[in-house]
Amino acid sequence: MKDIDTAGFDTVCIRGGHTPENNRAHLTPVYASSTYTFDSSEQALAVFKGEEKGYIYGRWGSPTISEAEEKISLLESYRLKNSSGSPLQLKSLLHASGMSAICTMLLSNLKAGQKIITHYSLYGGTHELIEKVLPGMGMESVVVDFHDIDKVEDVLKADGNIALMYMETPANPTLQCIDLEALSSLGKSYGLTVCVDNTFATPYLQQPFKYDVDYVMHSTTKFLNGHGTAIGGVLVGKDLEKMNGPVTKTHRLLGGNSNGFDAFLLTNGLRTFGVRMERHCSNAERVANYLNGHSSVANVNFLGLESHPDHITAMRQMKNGGAMLSFELKGGYEAGVKFLDKMQMCTNAVSLGTCDTLISHPASTTHGGVPHEQRIKFGITDGLMRVSVGMENIEDILNDFEQAMR
Ligand SMILES: *Cc1c(COP(=O)(O)O)cnc(C)c1O
Repeated sequence: MKDIDTAGFDTVCIRGGHTPENNRAHLTPVYASSTYTFDSSEQALAVFKGEEKGYIYGRWGSPTISEAEEKISLLESYRLKNSSGSPLQLKSLLHASGMSAICTMLLSNLKAGQKIITHYSLYGGTHELIEKVLPGMGMESVVVDFHDIDKVEDVLKADGNIALMYMETPANPTLQCIDLEALSSLGKSYGLTVCVDNTFATPYLQQPFKYDVDYVMHSTTKFLNGHGTAIGGVLVGKDLEKMNGPVTKTHRLLGGNSNGFDAFLLTNGLRTFGVRMERHCSNAERVANYLNGHSSVANVNFLGLESHPDHITAMRQMKNGGAMLSFELKGGYEAGVKFLDKMQMCTNAVSLGTCDTLISHPASTTHGGVPHEQRIKFGITDGLMRVSVGMENIEDILNDFEQAMR
């Protein structure tokens, strides 16, 4: 499409990144081919040198993968400008999973002896990677409450080895939100590489590149795919030279590539991304309001409610309160388990961002292994329920909640 820079968000979702197909297929097919051929040795050389555009080997990409990557670049940069006022150009690398995208980012930007500064309650896998795997490679991390900007600055002043700032906002499962603008500008002033896991918010709600961050990562498994059909991840960067150079090199050598089928499913999901998010978010607001007035509910964590401690920060950097919420039942652990077992429509499952409403009970599942005291400190109380609000008719979601509450 010619004027993609001025097209609307949903048009970008549908048409962005698509290039005409040689055999005139309407959609880009699943390229199930491990290797690509050359017309001549001369042409092979030109493609290898990057002088001619072309595909070489499946681990390095395919047309199906390129389409999903380009779409995500366009969505993360939607209506953003670079410092000279022209449309911001981003580069995305599709990975086999969100964790794989995070690994490529960390391993292409950190050396042994350098440290990460990050905050509480990251995604469990990221937390474990930083705690259990990276220290063995000489990469330590410092955990600070990112709500306290002065404290973050004190730590940065005192430790010259900190090279990378890692943020995730909103965070799981209490929807804590940190100030991207203030933290990114602080990080940059200390010369750090600044990166944001934007999985929960998605580019529909929040565009971290607006605040000059260096990288955005997603688990595309969630809202971007939107149908729960494939695990995937993406690393998006704005330093094109670095993205095309050392970051691409690291990605290719670690071997965490995506594949034609998963990329096809992702692209297919992305076509309806804007429309899906609209419905997810409006349904979530209705569910939050319902729970907020309920006599069995002690507390509702939803960024669209003024009662959420980070409501103001969230409204500044996000389009609305989002599609994720959690709530605490007065009856604690027992009530949580009972509520889930009584659900007749909503699905008892971890993960998020699918068309159907998913409910999970972190204390008995995702965070069951976290020591009780630490769990409470992170706000994961015994009766806390996490909801990824789906796109079903709102009356059906509310009716299911109502009968399970009785
Ligand atoms: C799911 C998730 C990940 C990990 O992604 P995978 O695709 O499961 O590897 C990372 N960050 C957040 C916030 C997530 O929700």
